[in-house]
Amino acid sequence: MDPGSEFEGVGEGRLTPVTEIDIRGLAEVRDEKDVFLSVYLPTASREEEAENRSFVARRSRAMEEALPADLKASFRETMATVEDLLFSSPIPGERGRIVFASAPAPLLRAYRIGIDPGRAMVLDTSPFLLPLAKLRDDYLDYGLLLLDSREARLFCVRSDVPEEVGRLSADLMGKHKKGGWSQMRFNRLRKGAVRSFLSEVAEDVRESCLRHKTRGLVVAGPGDAKKEFLELLPHDLGRKVLAVVDLPIDAPQRKLVEIGNEIALADERVLSMERAEELRAQILRGGLAVRGVEATKVALEAGRVSVLVLLKDASAPGWICERCQALEARRRPPPACPNCGGPTSAVDVVNELYELAERTGAEVEFVEEDACLASGEGVGALLRY
Ligand SMILES: [Zn+2]
Repeated sequence: MDPGSEFEGVGEGRLTPVTEIDIRGLAEVRDEKDVFLSVYLPTASREEEAENRSFVARRSRAMEEALPADLKASFRETMATVEDLLFSSPIPGERGRIVFASAPAPLLRAYRIGIDPGRAMVLDTSPFLLPLAKLRDDYLDYGLLLLDSREARLFCVRSDVPEEVGRLSADLMGKHKKGGWSQMRFNRLRKGAVRSFLSEVAEDVRESCLRHKTRGLVVAGPGDAKKEFLELLPHDLGRKVLAVVDLPIDAPQRKLVEIGNEIALADERVLSMERAEELRAQILRGGLAVRGVEATKVALEAGRVSVLVLLKDASAPGWICERCQALEARRRPPPACPNCGGPTSAVDVVNELYELAERTGAEVEFVEEDACLASGEGVGALLRY
């Protein structure tokens, strides 16, 4: 990726869905020295903002003191670049902010997001991506369809923010006078009109799902239209339906997103439990899986990993060689790399494994809790071969 200085999100004054952030590109960025500043801040309230200021002041002071003399000036320069980005007023709907910056690299990425990222500030040889990766795992984009027999609204929910992407309404028989028709004939005609309306909605949903690459679809609304709609959905789309929920057609957006998020998150939890289960089964039968930091690292380096499976709270102190990328867990960094003599630094090996996975195109799955993974340092991988 072009590591050039670039403004995103904060400068534009819009919310960026976490799925839109080029995490793979950011995983390619590294330097031999600790020049990359990563900051995650919650911005939902005034109290948070006040806490952010003292947190950043405290952390930056500690960082500057810990840095070798030759890096202090560039660190101050980086801090000066991000000052405004960190503390500018939040826009409506903003609940957090993520900034990656380095004056010497140069790199500058800043994003306003609709979710609370927790508070973290790290200076390292590469952008600190693990918190962002966890957010992306929890907040996949999904579609939300609210419909009855004459109105349909389709939303794409990205990082907690609903965006209306389609709206259809049918003037069912409105133009006709019921007078003169038998009740039976009226009902038949109305039924046909509802059906053709719902087919139109299904077609719209299909197009939208393709365009927005949503993970799944929540179907909501009052009455029986939902059921009829599901019967009209083509099979491939039907499989994407995460849940069907009874809701009034005028349900407020906030409520919709709240319910949709719960459903999407529950679906993600099921998926990650399935992954953990698959890993356990493969390990038990000596199949295509590894567990533990060392074995996982070797598999990643060989490009054999299809899915890196990480416990959410996994972390393993260790060191990395900034030149040849030699990586070792459970050791303090040696003065120089035993392989190439390059500079070493202390790292969280789990974060390094994560970045390695991104660079090698492996999928990454975070698991809430799992005994098998926990006994393997919280790290494992399903292998391609
Ligand atoms: Zn080395």
